[in-house]
Amino acid sequence: MTPIRIGNGYDIHRIESGDGLILGNLKIPFDKKFIAHSDGDVLIHAIIDAIFGALCDGDIGSHFPDTDPQYKGADSADLLRQAVSIMHERGYQFGNLDANIICQQPKLRPHIDNIRRRLSVLLSADICDISIKAKTKEHCDAVGTGEAVEVFVSVLLVRDN
Ligand code: MG
Repeated sequence: MTPIRIGNGYDIHRIESGDGLILGNLKIPFDKKFIAHSDGDVLIHAIIDAIFGALCDGDIGSHFPDTDPQYKGADSADLLRQAVSIMHERGYQFGNLDANIICQQPKLRPHIDNIRRRLSVLLSADICDISIKAKTKEHCDAVGTGEAVEVFVSVLLVRDN
């Protein structure tokens, strides 16, 4: 197996009236919430997909099927912990990640460092190895009209010695 492995992850969730958006296991104050089988944490879902992608080991749906009732209302942080433990079992450590959250509203900049801090705990990683960027979609398509939020993530994994 290659000593350094790259993975990319993508996810999108629609939003509806509610009491906040869960992003990176933090609740961002807003008058909407994600429509989802789980807590809808689109950022963590994309990170999990990127980790499984780097391991060439399926995706979030193959490991945690949304047809399985045990994942209904699941805390995505628990799924991330399981993905990280699979990564360790396979002999890899987290290297770094770089994410783009595409979100028309609310403004995410004030929350970025808190999200990075929370992810650093969940990934047992240094905050300096976690980059989160937020962009709008310039009012284009469903994300740009505020109907959905999407995330793109790249992760690097490094093989244990
Ligand atoms: Mg998802």
